[in-house]
Amino acid sequence: MKIGILSRNANLYSTRRLIESCESRGHEVKVIDALRCYMNINSEKPQIHFKGEELSDFDAIIPRIGASVTFYGTAVLRQFEMMGVYPVNESVAITRSRDKLRSMQLLSRKGIGMPITGFASKPDDIKDLLQMVGGAPVVIKLLEGTQGIGVVLAETKKAAESVVEAFMGLKANIMVQEFIKEAGGADIRCFVIGEKVIAAMKRQGAKGEFRSNLHRGGSASLVKITPQERRTAVAAAKIMGLNVAGVDLLRSERGPLVMEVNSSPGLEGIETSTGKDVAGMIVEFIEKNAPSKRTRTRGQG
Ligand code: ADP
Repeated sequence: MKIGILSRNANLYSTRRLIESCESRGHEVKVIDALRCYMNINSEKPQIHFKGEELSDFDAIIPRIGASVTFYGTAVLRQFEMMGVYPVNESVAITRSRDKLRSMQLLSRKGIGMPITGFASKPDDIKDLLQMVGGAPVVIKLLEGTQGIGVVLAETKKAAESVVEAFMGLKANIMVQEFIKEAGGADIRCFVIGEKVIAAMKRQGAKGEFRSNLHRGGSASLVKITPQERRTAVAAAKIMGLNVAGVDLLRSERGPLVMEVNSSPGLEGIETSTGKDVAGMIVEFIEKNAPSKRTRTRGQG
């Protein structure tokens, strides 16, 4: 098959592993920087050009679209979909999962467990907002944050009010969330392919740190997940419409709570901590599913 990887950097661990896996399984592979693609929106024959060349005859695309290029990256992916190319994750599903508010609303509507969460943009009554989620301690998050930056634990009512006020001053959209203390500074990353959790790791925050992000000094290890955690992760990926997803869970007294569903989950942490060939499993999934070209929306979204 001819497989394209939409990625801005061929040297990233995840991209390199996907290239290796495609090649070792006998496929032709090309890394495409979405930002450098230009497109012809045409009802007869939609086209994509890259470095003066037409990109044609691809069987499948593996999108690895960074958060900062979601808008243009998903437009390029949508163009491939319009050309009948099979996307591992569809553009509509990626856009959906990148919008934290929309994805949490979708997940909650389907009964998926999640921390009690409040969203706000310019609340006049901060005390009421905090009460809505059960009061301090609360976790306050900037909607635009990644890698744990802009995620603050406010242990008292006073601290929570000041943090919300400070974030309001930045004109940022925020999320106020019940603090899941019993998670103990750890979360579980479930790597879903198709309708299976194929690998899972536990990320534990550094001592005294409630955030488990590896970028914040956390460490990853292999973990055995419960059937309920497995079911929750698979259901969350399915609701988002993602074939490949990283579902982050917190272990709470009332069962697994979904924090986030990631559409371009990194491969380094999960492959290193579990010893599994996750990249190979993604390519195997393509081999099984691309021939039928069963995309759900064909770039209509
Ligand atoms: P980012 O998307 O920037 O990584 P997260 O929302 O995943 O931000 O939060 C970073 C980390 O903080 C999580 O991995 C988790 O360990 C911890 N965390 C986030 N929300 C909560 C919460 N409501 N209760 C307990 N811990 C939390």
